[in-house]
Amino acid sequence: MTTDYTFIDFDGVILDSEERMLERKYNLGLHDHKNENEFDTYFEYTNSHPKEWEYIIKEAKPINNSVEIIKELENLKKKIAILTKIHTLQEMKVKTEVLRENLKILCPVIFVPPGVKKHQVIVPNHQLLIDDSKKNITKWIENGGRGLIFDPTIESDTNKKVRSLEFLIKR
Ligand SMILES: [Mg+2]
Repeated sequence: MTTDYTFIDFDGVILDSEERMLERKYNLGLHDHKNENEFDTYFEYTNSHPKEWEYIIKEAKPINNSVEIIKELENLKKKIAILTKIHTLQEMKVKTEVLRENLKILCPVIFVPPGVKKHQVIVPNHQLLIDDSKKNITKWIENGGRGLIFDPTIESDTNKKVRSLEFLIKR
């Protein structure tokens, strides 16, 4: 019996919250999504505007049936956990509420704080991570994990990318 978990990213995999956050940031005049300082400014802004995370996360939509598939994986007793980066405590609070109360997802949720990498919180040790960030997947694999990039825009799954979480039901 395996004790390995499959770790699933939240933003940009389960819900389209990533896009919503970038849109809010852009609308504040912070247009350069490659500039780390702009993100710092935006996350600081959210600290004084707590409704911001509610807008971003509570009204976000599942991507390619992710929520239904996760519930099915839970029914099948698959070992899954959500591994998600957070930028503020308010974001952590809203994510927890949305997962447990709104979506009724019950699997473990592991939060990764600012300035820390996913592979530092969970030792990859051959376990699988599904994440829409190529950077996260590269680091995860470099540190001994297996990883797949989540990309809902591709037509079918490859050995490096998946378009939905559906393949997890059959494995
Ligand atoms: Mg993501």
